[in-house]
Amino acid sequence: MDALLDGLNAAQKTAVTSPASVIQVLAPPGSGKTKTLTARVAYLINHHGLLPWNIIVCTFTIKAAREMKERIRGFVGEGVESRLILGTFHSVARRFLVLYGNHIGIEKNFGIADSSDSLAIIKRIIKRRGFIVEPSAARSRISGLKARSTSCEEYIATAKKADQQEFANIYAEYEDTLKASNLLDYDDLLLRCGDLLRKHPTCVSSIQAVLIDEFQDTNHVQYELMSLFAQHKKTITIVGDPDQSIYGFRSAEIRNLQRMRHQYPETIVVNLENNYRSSGSILHSAMAVIQQDESRHNKTLLATHCVGERPVLRKLPSAAVEAGWIVSEIRRAKILTGELLTYNDFAILLRSASLSRHIESALGKAGIPYRMVGGHRFFDRVEVKIVLDYLRVINQPDHNDALVRIINVPSRKIGEVTIKHLLEEAEAKKKTLWNLILNAAQGKTRPQTKLSIQAEKGLETFVNLILTSQKKLQSVDEQSCNIVDLIAHVLKKLSFEEFLRRTHPEDFETRWANVEELVAQATDITVATEEALPVVEEIEQREFSSEDILSKFLANVALSTEVEKAEGEQVLQVTISTIHAAKGLEWPVVFIPAAYEGSIPHSRAEDTDEERRLLYVGMTRAQSLLYLSCPVKNSQREQTTLSPFISSRSMANVFDTKGPSFRFSVALDLSRILRRPCPPESAIQNARSLVDRLEDDLWPLDGEELDPENSYWDRSNPNNSAFPPEASSKRRRIE
Ligand code: ATP
Ligand code: MG
Repeated sequence: MDALLDGLNAAQKTAVTSPASVIQVLAPPGSGKTKTLTARVAYLINHHGLLPWNIIVCTFTIKAAREMKERIRGFVGEGVESRLILGTFHSVARRFLVLYGNHIGIEKNFGIADSSDSLAIIKRIIKRRGFIVEPSAARSRISGLKARSTSCEEYIATAKKADQQEFANIYAEYEDTLKASNLLDYDDLLLRCGDLLRKHPTCVSSIQAVLIDEFQDTNHVQYELMSLFAQHKKTITIVGDPDQSIYGFRSAEIRNLQRMRHQYPETIVVNLENNYRSSGSILHSAMAVIQQDESRHNKTLLATHCVGERPVLRKLPSAAVEAGWIVSEIRRAKILTGELLTYNDFAILLRSASLSRHIESALGKAGIPYRMVGGHRFFDRVEVKIVLDYLRVINQPDHNDALVRIINVPSRKIGEVTIKHLLEEAEAKKKTLWNLILNAAQGKTRPQTKLSIQAEKGLETFVNLILTSQKKLQSVDEQSCNIVDLIAHVLKKLSFEEFLRRTHPEDFETRWANVEELVAQATDITVATEEALPVVEEIEQREFSSEDILSKFLANVALSTEVEKAEGEQVLQVTISTIHAAKGLEWPVVFIPAAYEGSIPHSRAEDTDEERRLLYVGMTRAQSLLYLSCPVKNSQREQTTLSPFISSRSMANVFDTKGPSFRFSVALDLSRILRRPCPPESAIQNARSLVDRLEDDLWPLDGEELDPENSYWDRSNPNNSAFPPEASSKRRRIE
């Protein structure tokens, strides 16, 4: 039989090989939905003769897209997978806009306003107009409207009350600013792509199949895009799980599942029931959480792995101690499984990125390498951002925000007040800032803003740098045409290395390494784009220029939500991620700290059911070991209460309050679940004696720092009945 189908169960095979044109695969976490979707893509290529560029595959994160490409490569052969139109909705939409956006008046080198750009623009508008509105609230409101395809004009027509009109003004000015700077924000990418495909359906006439992962989290606009992609050939496969719908707060519409069945009555539904990811106990605990939602349809979920260790639930005195405990458990688990696990196997999943402070510092102190996902991005680091802003302005000088950030970095004696006045002058004249300073530097029109002689010189140097860089980018011949040269040119002209050394003597090395890292990524994208060239020619006889590569690089930066280090994949490191960004992924060992009311469910969350599903998503990322914990006092030193999702009496036996015993059987279970060779029993025995010697080092909660009697839940509190009395007073030992 086909190697493609090997290792799939009967239901998965049905979904992969089904002749039906519209398929919904609805199934719980870890049941192989993504695996099935991937296999179907390969099946369509190998058995239905589809060409990779006839297929659109949408995933939710860049990481998921990358993993999927890797899996597909295994089936269809090296290089074929890179020709698929595969990526997040945003990156797929961008691709169509780059190729065909000119049909609807979008300039080819449009930039992408990432969330911080959008926020900066809105802040400026609010300040200038003297409104009293929270900028981030205004931003989410605009985004919410766009997600439902409500244009600014449509909103203005309905805005009657004073506050609505005030908001309408912000919305209108925001749109004008984006337009003037030739920027599209995240929502625009989807909306404008929708406009394009509606008005020019031929742009997708070659598309033969559309496949979507994590369908439960699509919003209205994404749904529309899906049907537009498939408007010529209605071959659609979606996979999803209503229990994992966690983006309602961003206008995701779970009703899209029904809407799809209604729009395509030929839809067939396939259910998968076996879980191949997690141990029986982990599944049991996750089910105990999700089943509290009485409105949901109960589904069968069968464990295929051993029962394994019960998930751990611990109460610790403070967030700092909790972080120390996590570090200690990571080291312990690593040693006591005979090094079966590497740092890559551990993930710490947070309800909100702001909880990471103590954890990062504890990992840092212990010298454990880690990567942050969905939090502070690599591309947001000061030194990286400066270089990127130069590239943004070179790519698109009308990008006012980027220009303002770098016009005086390194210092060119152009003061903040001068910059502010220049910007105001440009806005008053309905010009871009670049236009104003270009004319000034070339002696065409003097700005009204008074400039010192030094500032005037500074402006001239800056303008020249941008102009020469643009020339360089346009003139390089085929052979050496790449943005790596361009970055090198900019760094040299700025004497950037010396600048960093001077301004950050204390951590110059790290910062310079980040800049080098950025150069490495630019190299990667140049190579990848060149490899992908034939695809583009298939779609349209057109070649990528180095300017296109620069735009693509900047778009990738804007669309990335994670720390994407080029060589980061090889480095062994613990992952810290938000639960949202961990969707679809799995790790052998997962920690979910801060499991208290106010954190999860979050105090500002409106939908408690969605918060419960979020915890469910977090717990079902774990394959072998799962640890939940809760500090008695949170970072603000307030007393906490255990999350109601895990504190009910019925859950008393679901969790273990002591932690895994790390007998040989734990390593054995792990090796089975992860399909890795198990170290010999003697290695585990040796590790045990090593840990006994390291006990003080590994268990920072001992002694004075923590009184064992107080380290467990207050048994008199009926809400905290998750802890059987006999377990609660014992100090945990390795058995
Ligand atoms: P989620 O809802 O979390 O996205 P999913 O349903 O997409 O989960 P996958 O990520 O596709 O699940 O699969 C989970 C794990 O189970 C993966 O490690 C995958 O390789 C494995 N798996 C899936 N199907 C099978 C199978 N038939 N036999 C063995 N392993 C499988
Ligand atoms: Mg999946």
